[in-house]
Amino acid sequence: MLEVMERRESAQERVAELTERVGAVQGKADDATARRDAAQGALDDEAASVAKEREVVAGSVPADLMKLYEKIRGQQGGVGAAKLFQRRCEGCRLELNITELNEVRAAAPETVVRCENCRRILVRTSESGL
Ligand SMILES: [Zn+2]
Repeated sequence: MLEVMERRESAQERVAELTERVGAVQGKADDATARRDAAQGALDDEAASVAKEREVVAGSVPADLMKLYEKIRGQQGGVGAAKLFQRRCEGCRLELNITELNEVRAAAPETVVRCENCRRILVRTSESGL
């Protein structure tokens, strides 16, 4: 009889301990869920803001260039234009060879130049290495 009571007491202690642990884990899970939801909200706000900015910029780009950009963007995983940085296409990361660089150098500023490797539109800046 005494042995049974001891076993019962031990089991009750174990139940209390496990119940407390479940509560602690649930609290951590609730906290993580709240942080995830907050981060998702911030991302949604940022996406809406960027979409508005994009709309404004896209409106200032000539229609034929925008069409070309969208076509390349669809083919190249969402990136239709890339900076030419230190003689390297930032889209595919390949360095242009001397012939390609000379062609880009010779092109008028308003001419659309493209990467021979990935075909993205190359954006020339003072850091292009031309
Ligand atoms: Zn490229």
